[in-house]
Amino acid sequence: AIRVEGLTKRFGTLQVLRGIDCTVHNSEVVCVIGPSGSGKSTFLRCLNGLEEASGGRVLVHGVSVHDNHTNIDALRSEIGMVFQRFNLFPHMTVQENIILAPIKVRGLAEEEARARAHDLLIKVGLLDKIDAYPNQLSGGQQQRVAIARALAMQPAIMLFDEPTSALDPEMVGEVLSVMQTLAEEGMTMVVVSHEMGFARRVAHRVLFMDEGMLVEEGTPEAIFDNPREERTLRFLSKVL
Ligand code: ATP
Ligand code: MG
Repeated sequence: AIRVEGLTKRFGTLQVLRGIDCTVHNSEVVCVIGPSGSGKSTFLRCLNGLEEASGGRVLVHGVSVHDNHTNIDALRSEIGMVFQRFNLFPHMTVQENIILAPIKVRGLAEEEARARAHDLLIKVGLLDKIDAYPNQLSGGQQQRVAIARALAMQPAIMLFDEPTSALDPEMVGEVLSVMQTLAEEGMTMVVVSHEMGFARRVAHRVLFMDEGMLVEEGTPEAIFDNPREERTLRFLSKVL
């Protein structure tokens, strides 16, 4: 589980997160929506310590992310992250991309890492691309490799920051479907996305952020069909 308590974040004088409180339970899928600049990416990056907090705290499985005594590398290897831009290593094949961190960080034997990569490529439907280089893949395929690469570390939690927004429309579905499978297997997921259909189908809970605040949260039905806050309604009327 992830517990967020009074999380604030400033960049210089710019207050980006203004006191966020929320909990993500194990095996829960939480979608974060909100206007551009509302702090969604910053929030996500605070969850795995990619961003320092200015105040408050984040606990992952009870361990404080921003505590100096915390082994942040160990904690981060529990948390996989997939970004908008598939940042695969361009000079490495698909397989090499996937086995690198498990061998280097987890000390996995190469044999075992390869076996794991093989299974993950079946899972994301790309076994035939195992020896391809990233530039030989479509955007959707690259993003599925990025998901496989994150999963190779066997994380307990997966964070997604607009994983489909850089993709051509016809490739969005294949990535969302991999994410849906992951969700159905019980992965704990926090997903920043403008894919409202995915949020409705897959999310257990939707968080609406605006101006660094968690304005409203609820089930997809509650948020999409019956928002309580004027600001939520206004945002949804623009994106739905
Ligand atoms: P989008 O939907 O466009 O991705 P977002 O909700 O993810 O937006 P953030 O990227 O979290 O928003 O940014 C929130 C605010 O923080 C913005 O005003 C942004 O300019 C600012 N910001 C983000 N990162 C930094 C940084 N490293 N230094 C200074 N300001 C930053
Ligand atoms: Mg963002």
